[in-house]
Amino acid sequence: MSDLSHGAAWIGGRILPIAEASIPVTDWGLTHSDIAYDVVPVWKGAFFRLNDYVDRFMDSLAYWRMDVGMSTDEITAALAQMVTASGLQDAYVAMVGSRGRNPIPGSRDPRDCDNHFYAWCVPYVHIVKPEQAQRGTSVWIAKSVRRIPKDSVNPKAKNYHWGDFTSGLFEAKDHGFETTLLLDHQGNVTEGPGFNVFALFGRTLVTSDHGVLHGITRGTVLEMAQARGLNIETRALPLEEFWTADEVMLSSSGGGVIPVARVDEHHFSNGAAGPVARQLRSDYFSWLEQDRFRTLLTAWTAKV
Ligand SMILES: *Cc1c(COP(=O)(O)O)cnc(C)c1O
Repeated sequence: MSDLSHGAAWIGGRILPIAEASIPVTDWGLTHSDIAYDVVPVWKGAFFRLNDYVDRFMDSLAYWRMDVGMSTDEITAALAQMVTASGLQDAYVAMVGSRGRNPIPGSRDPRDCDNHFYAWCVPYVHIVKPEQAQRGTSVWIAKSVRRIPKDSVNPKAKNYHWGDFTSGLFEAKDHGFETTLLLDHQGNVTEGPGFNVFALFGRTLVTSDHGVLHGITRGTVLEMAQARGLNIETRALPLEEFWTADEVMLSSSGGGVIPVARVDEHHFSNGAAGPVARQLRSDYFSWLEQDRFRTLLTAWTAKV
């Protein structure tokens, strides 16, 4: 058996080392970013909120009109089999539906394409390094791009249309910031590359409800905040109001809750991680270990 400890992929029922996994150059997934995907975390040997992620993935496939010829159970089994084979106990697990190749020469008809499913996993990814998340990270508001409008590419169906985020990331890095946050065309705060954004005003936590992916971590943050007695508002968040927040934080399956100390030249919570953000971050890591959310990898070893 080859070494899968750096990651593994599941393609067409075969499990192979991540470095050997590839898709054809004519796959529309590559030529048109025509992909529906999702990412579920594995933490200490168990998937977190597995059904929530797989259900969202099935919804994204349906939205993009892909039929990968696999049921929810078959997809779930493929993920479990792959992660188990990798031996990873903490993992970033991607499930992907691609439009695939069009077997008819010259055809631009998407209905002709051979849609297919594949998956891959690598060691758990923190989108912001834990040391930096603990101190409070820095975020640059993109000036040259806006979040692609929701009536152009639906952000609720997780997709590979990352041109706006990539431009924002270049801007952020050019200015010495860790990551970027995009506004919509009305000047509201939306989201960033792989994360949702929250602003805290007193005891009220606000996050956008439109023009953004409804992150599973976003949902977890709303539940944790309620459990902590905070008020929740999911609505448009204008930039002028955002500047007056007491605290700012990000949420992602890649690292949970990430406190923000600085946005552009503006310092939040005295330029450190805010107390509520720190609390929610630590709540997230304990929720990751709660049995009610966990599906053990060993639950499959009998089946596969
Ligand atoms: C994946 C993603 C998020 C975060 O969603 P989670 O389910 O919490 O990981 C937010 N925004 C975008 C654009 C994403 O792709």
